[in-house]
Amino acid sequence: MKQTFAIATGKALLILLQRTGRGGTALPGLIAQRLDPHILTGLTARLPSGSAVVTGTNGKTTTTRLFSTILQQAGLKVVNNRSGSNLIRGLTSTLLDQATFSGKLVADVGLFEVDEAAFPQAIAEIGPRLILVNNLFRDQLDRYGEIDTIRKRWVASVQKLGVGTTLVLNADDPSVAYLARFAPTGVRTVFFGLDDPAQTLSELPHAVDATKCVVCGSPLRYSAVYISHMGHYQCTNCDFKRPEPDYLAQNILLQGTSTTQFTLTTPAEPLPLSLGVPGLYNVYNATGAAAAALTLGLAPENVRLGLAEFKAAFGRIERVALAEDKALLLALVKNPVGFNEVLRMLTTSAEPKLKLLIIINDLIADGRDVSWLWDVDFEVLAGKVEQVFTGGLRAADMAVRLKYAGVASSLIRVEEDIATVLKEATEHLLPGETLYVTPTYTAMLQTRQILQKMGMVLPFWEE
Ligand SMILES: [Zn+2]
Repeated sequence: MKQTFAIATGKALLILLQRTGRGGTALPGLIAQRLDPHILTGLTARLPSGSAVVTGTNGKTTTTRLFSTILQQAGLKVVNNRSGSNLIRGLTSTLLDQATFSGKLVADVGLFEVDEAAFPQAIAEIGPRLILVNNLFRDQLDRYGEIDTIRKRWVASVQKLGVGTTLVLNADDPSVAYLARFAPTGVRTVFFGLDDPAQTLSELPHAVDATKCVVCGSPLRYSAVYISHMGHYQCTNCDFKRPEPDYLAQNILLQGTSTTQFTLTTPAEPLPLSLGVPGLYNVYNATGAAAAALTLGLAPENVRLGLAEFKAAFGRIERVALAEDKALLLALVKNPVGFNEVLRMLTTSAEPKLKLLIIINDLIADGRDVSWLWDVDFEVLAGKVEQVFTGGLRAADMAVRLKYAGVASSLIRVEEDIATVLKEATEHLLPGETLYVTPTYTAMLQTRQILQKMGMVLPFWEE
């Protein structure tokens, strides 16, 4: 009774706000939650095919969307959340949007993206059938201690999982694989990972977060490193090592900035996959999404079509066409690991010499401390760039970092004002060329606004 009233009230408020052009807030969720503290549990329980949750530091937005595209291929109606402000309230609002006044949901399945910190509460309230954990990276804002705190909280929530839940874990990330040790009886654990000698790094990158064993604290020994601390590891002291994955990405073919191909080894037939987005980190995202979908019993054909059709229209990377066959490629950068991956993608792309624009702001949403730029391996750019523009509030700091990385000063042009630097950099392009633009979060928002004012049609973007 209480719940019926809470749903109807929240729903009415949501419609009112939408009609007056103030939709998209978490307010209806907040009000409904006040009326019934268990409303989120109640609403998710009404989804006929249940819910799945995706968490991790990097790539969860893309992974969630890949997973969602696969579910839609299978004919399911999916309800997704928007990441951002108060998660539980936001989730409640999202579900109210998909509910009728009587509380019937029009979606079949809920697929929710949850950040690392909100994970325990979200799991407890949603009660998902499946949980996909991508990775755990240090955040630039909180360098010390945070990983251990989050890992402990994750362990505590895994210990409380109900019988019948499935955990889909990245075997290549020690902190994530470690969670399997705490899964109660009746909780199924599935691992995914990469296995491709051609994609390994020769050493652990600067930005690496965790090279110590999560069980005993001794050093980990890696026989392969793919991204940051993710790879094939084994403790030099105890029995902790990378578990054997059930789903394995092999024969990975990175085709510059457009597509990626790989073979997914599964417990059944191997599945050749083509992915509509570039970069090795997206192979991790796609492998996780595919493993989750196949574990839920979806057909391999749905996985294949879903991944092939997926475009990063609203993802981390987008291409904007300009006049004279020129183009911009925008890739959001927010931490050393993500930035290293973007640099790896750019320096393995077909372009012999890059034209690059790096825009660094240090507002709250970007992180106030730009010392994280020293953890990015800009050294890979030396000899690979034709011209680098640096823009944004910290354009000068960025230029200094590039000089230390071995990029010749004569190739670096510093201009704080984003509109000016964007104009200069695009004017510098020859017909047929692409300018690669890597902005931080608020710089991305500004860049998009400026491009829109210049009359460019941009695909939808959110983060
Ligand atoms: Zn150990």
